[in-house]
Amino acid sequence: MSDKFDLIVIGGGSGGIAHARRAAEYGANVAVIEYGPLGGTCVNVGCVPKKVMWYTAGHRQHAAHAGDYGFDMSIGGHDWGKVKERRDAYVSRLNGIYERNLGNSGAKYITGAASFVDPHTLAVGGEHYTADRIVIATGGRPSIPDIPGAELGITSDGFFELEERPQRVLVVGSGYIAVELAGVFNGLGSDVQLVVRKDRILRNFDVMLSELLMEAICKHGVALDVGVIPASVEKTDEGLVLYSEDGRSFGPFDAVLWAIGRTPNTEGLALDKAGVDIGDDGFIPTDIYQKTNVEHIFALGDVTGRAALTPVAIAAGRRLADRLYGGMEGRHLDYDLIPTVIFSHPPIGTVGLTESQARAEYGDDIKIYTSAFVPMYYALGEDKQRSMMKLITAGEEERIVGCHIIGDGADEMLQGFAVAIRMGATKQDFDDTVAIHPTNAEELVTMR
Ligand SMILES: Cc1cc2nc3c(=O)[nH]c(=O)nc-3n(C[C@H](O)[C@H](O)[C@H](O)COP(=O)(O)OP(=O)(O)OC[C@H]3O[C@@H](n4cnc5c(N)ncnc54)[C@H](O)[C@@H]3O)c2cc1C
Repeated sequence: MSDKFDLIVIGGGSGGIAHARRAAEYGANVAVIEYGPLGGTCVNVGCVPKKVMWYTAGHRQHAAHAGDYGFDMSIGGHDWGKVKERRDAYVSRLNGIYERNLGNSGAKYITGAASFVDPHTLAVGGEHYTADRIVIATGGRPSIPDIPGAELGITSDGFFELEERPQRVLVVGSGYIAVELAGVFNGLGSDVQLVVRKDRILRNFDVMLSELLMEAICKHGVALDVGVIPASVEKTDEGLVLYSEDGRSFGPFDAVLWAIGRTPNTEGLALDKAGVDIGDDGFIPTDIYQKTNVEHIFALGDVTGRAALTPVAIAAGRRLADRLYGGMEGRHLDYDLIPTVIFSHPPIGTVGLTESQARAEYGDDIKIYTSAFVPMYYALGEDKQRSMMKLITAGEEERIVGCHIIGDGADEMLQGFAVAIRMGATKQDFDDTVAIHPTNAEELVTMR
């Protein structure tokens, strides 16, 4: 088998595989180098197992509401180990599917860690492979704070290794992974403490979303403390204790989970041997065509530090292949208006500008429409979990520049609205759309 390729992709995750398969379909001679299981973060320690756990916690919530609908229900125990076993088996099946699909596309799969020898050559173990073009799609890994005792904690990777559910859990972090995993533990019956550095969770999202989610998770029993900067973790006879810089202590806990951000996987690549620049933040900067500072070397997905989401990595990878091997000149991913969902309880769907971003961009030339309501699902019971929605419009024509939803169904609701918003929908278009009744989504087309 040749060790000279048209294209070598480093990283067999969401972006790398999508790019390699599309390029191979166009006829390129492609190799993918991967040292871990195929599918990368999303399949193995990200979206997929996370969503299984979100469903798991959701079952408990639904069971709790079943009594409102006349069922004689009591919730017995929950077998975390059984879910893990089934989840791991599902992930293994996906690994196999990824490998088969890669093989079917004609790409060569090389296992091992890749590092540059020179701008066109990569070393894997003792072997050297050369290519006309190289794509870096090495993703990232969870960050761990540089404080004494940090190693006593786990990360999201460790979360997926847990054989049983810890009862007393501290989650450190304010981003979507922190709130999602805290929500899973809480939903399944752990005593959860969430600590965040600043004043709220989900700081990069519209304030309406973080405020209602904070209200909801606290109502469900999560203890939330703000302004907590971790200083150290200690193991005591009672469990793990976190000390903050301002002298507070939290605990004891059975598990401490760091969800404080992600570090790009660039260290082992010997990028200096290829002359590839790294930004001050550690990510690999690219132009809009995913090109690094080196003409024939590209980077995509989480390692570039932009919108770290699976569909973003896939879209960037496919568009790059379309341009390089499919003759689609100028094709590239537009990073604006990327919809995203947070699998919290209740879930969040969001696309476009937050209210403060819209004000910064358009000044007073924006209008805000909001809706707060209790979905009909909760009509028969005591639990009255509110939903909230916000539409932000800009300009005289009232083009929708932001859409933010928190509440049941937000996760499945957003995709179609994101299409409309991407097409330039105005508030009038929303108003002219006949509602579907009775649904939660209809609130989005009936706001005044
Ligand atoms: C807990 C969690 C939940 C998430 N949930 C969602 C979600 O719900 N929705 C969503 O869209 N996104 C979610 N994400 C984000 C999503 O997983 C990533 O955005 C996506 O996987 C990025 O794809 P990628 O191809 O850039 O990198 P990855 O999927 O991380 O793939 C990179 C691959 O490169 C390999 N690699 C690294 N260095 C080398 C090397 N030197 N040689 C060979 N191979 C190497 C790695 O082993 C890895 O397999 C989640 C992430 C986490 C951590």
